[in-house]
Formats: sequence, C-alpha cells, structure tokens
Amino acid sequence: MTIKCRDEIKDLLPYMPGKPIEDVKAEYNISEVTKLASNENPLGCSPDALDTIRNTTSLELYPDGNCTALKKELSKRLDLSCEEIILSNGSDEMIDMLAKTFLNNDDEVIMSSVTFPRYFSVTQMMGAKSIIVPLKEWTFDLDGMFNALTDKTKLIWLCNPNNPTGTMFTEDELLKFLNSVPKNVIVVYDEAYNEYVTRDDYPRNTERLLKDYPNLIIMRTFSKIYGLAALRVGYTLANKNIVKSIEKIRCAFNVNSIAQNAALAALNDDDFVKKSYEMNIEGKKYLYKEFDQLGFEYAKTETNHIFVDVKEDAQFIFDELQKRGMIIRPFMDSYIRVTIGTPKQNEMFIKKLKEVLNK
Ligand SMILES: *Cc1c(COP(=O)(O)O)cnc(C)c1O
Repeated sequence: MTIKCRDEIKDLLPYMPGKPIEDVKAEYNISEVTKLASNENPLGCSPDALDTIRNTTSLELYPDGNCTALKKELSKRLDLSCEEIILSNGSDEMIDMLAKTFLNNDDEVIMSSVTFPRYFSVTQMMGAKSIIVPLKEWTFDLDGMFNALTDKTKLIWLCNPNNPTGTMFTEDELLKFLNSVPKNVIVVYDEAYNEYVTRDDYPRNTERLLKDYPNLIIMRTFSKIYGLAALRVGYTLANKNIVKSIEKIRCAFNVNSIAQNAALAALNDDDFVKKSYEMNIEGKKYLYKEFDQLGFEYAKTETNHIFVDVKEDAQFIFDELQKRGMIIRPFMDSYIRVTIGTPKQNEMFIKKLKEVLNK
C-alpha cells in the first residue's frame, strides 16, 4: 500500500537539477567540465567571504536566528528599519515561506508563462490557482497581468530582470503597475539579478518604494553576483506587517552562522561585485557577436545569462554539449539558457557549440 501525499502536491514534479560536475566527468570519462547552467558567478565569491569562512572555528552553537549583524548592515545600507528586513535560506526558501504565509486554497495567483519555476510549484503546493500570462516579445506583459486580476487574486509574482529570458521592464512600467494593482493584492518582486542590470531605465533602489506600497515584497539574494549560492542566503524587504506575518512560519535557525558571516563580508566587498559586473558585460558582448554570426536570435539580457534560440532541438544540443564537458540548460523547443562565464569559458562554449552544430 502506498501512502498518499496531500492532494495539492500529487501532480507536482520534483525539481530536476542538472547533473553534478563529478557525475558528468565519470559518465563521459572527461576531466574538464564547465557548468554554465545555473547562473552562478564564474569568479567565485569575495575573498573576504572566503577568509571569514576559513576563520570560523566554532560550530557547536546555534546560529543567531535573527541574523542581527547582517540585518543591521542591510538596514544601514538601505535606510530601512530592521523590522522591514527578513533573511532566508536563499530566495528559494522565501518563495516557499511567502506561499505558506499568504496563500489560501481558493486564491488566484498571477505569474508569467516563462519565469522562475518555483512560483508555480509553491502556488500549487498551497492549493491556490496559478493564472499564467504569456510573455510578450520575451518580456513580462504587465498589462496582461493587470487584466488577469479578479476579486480572487491574492498575489502576483514578478521577476525583474527575468530568469530565464534575461529581459526587464522599466521603472515607469513598474510604477504604473503598482499604482493600478489594488493594495490588498501582494506584489512579489524578485530582483535576483538586479546587480547585473546595465540599463538606466531599470528601477534602482526599489526599497524606497516600500513606504508607498505596503503590498510590495522585494526579494534579493547572495547566490548570484555575490557568488555564495552554496551557502543559501537571501534577503527580503517589505512592510513590517508583512515581515511579522512571515516570521510566524519561519524556521528558527534558517540561515546558518557561516552563511551569515560570509554574506556580511561579501556585502562589504564592492570591488568583487564591480569586477563581476564588468566581466559579465564583456562576456555578453562576445556571446552576442558569436550568436549574431551563427544567425541565432536571442533576447537582450540584463542578467548573467542569455536565452537563445539555437534552431535545433534544445535537448539534443544539451546532450551533445554535455558529452563534450559543457553543461547548459535546455528549455522548450530550440531555446537554451547559457550562463555568461569567464572569457575562457565563453570561448570554450562557442567552440563546442560550433562542433555540435558542425559549423
Ligand atoms: C537563482 C534565483 C533565485 C534563487 O536564489 P537562491 O537565493 O539561491 O535561492 C530566485 N529567483 C530567481 C529568479 C533566481 O534566478
């Protein structure tokens, strides 16, 4: 007899991560494997963060459940009170906590068709209904999302710039949207890649919007430009009533001590962030040039990854690249997502891609 899980989750599929580098090496008997599949920082992380980790000697104590030092530093930098900030085990945990805190089983939740997949699965998990709005020319259709509002709408998931497409919407578009959405509808605004954005019309320092929009929840992470994906730290900025509600379901020690200390060190290393930002711009230029020569269409990216139409079955391209020690992420039809790497990694990627395509 099999034990049944909750009805709400019976149709969900577990997250399928890419194969670990070690497994790919073993399976294809290759020594060099490059992973450009998960939007990690190819430069690693701040050396200050690594020092902090190396200098950690006591592991017997529980972490500070309130993340006091890290929260204070964020509060100072962002000019927010500590009551408006909450830390999580990556943004992933926050997405989960937001669903648990706010979604009832007859609520409607609006999201885009091609975006971060966790929004959909946590919505299903709570038994709420996902209302999916198609992309428009590879960007969020905010008007379409607005038109999807009903009196049952509880929450809207926005991701700017978006994963996997890399596209963004502007400050004007965000403000127009926030002004039109009723204040009893939560707008979750995921900024995992904000530090990579180059365009001037991108909404910067969105924490300043919190005072006017008590329904806005801003999520950021240390996993991307800060290069600390392994440690799992994200932070969320919101009205203090929202933070208070999330605190009710947060696990007491959700962010471990090493992660808290390393995140604090990483936050104060502006040089590392700048270096990562600049290398990303160079990599982007190189890959655009190569994709143009190959005749590929791609969405202009404001992130550290590019969504590109390789005009061949994406799964085939993925398999063939993986055999050659290059891991990327296949999407529907002929779309793949490739993380922008170091110059050497980018060149290697193009070389192997051409090999696979016989070009
Ligand atoms: C990577 C990513 C996250 C998750 O980041 P973690 O903090 O590592 O959990 C959240 N949202 C988007 C859009 C991402 O791409």
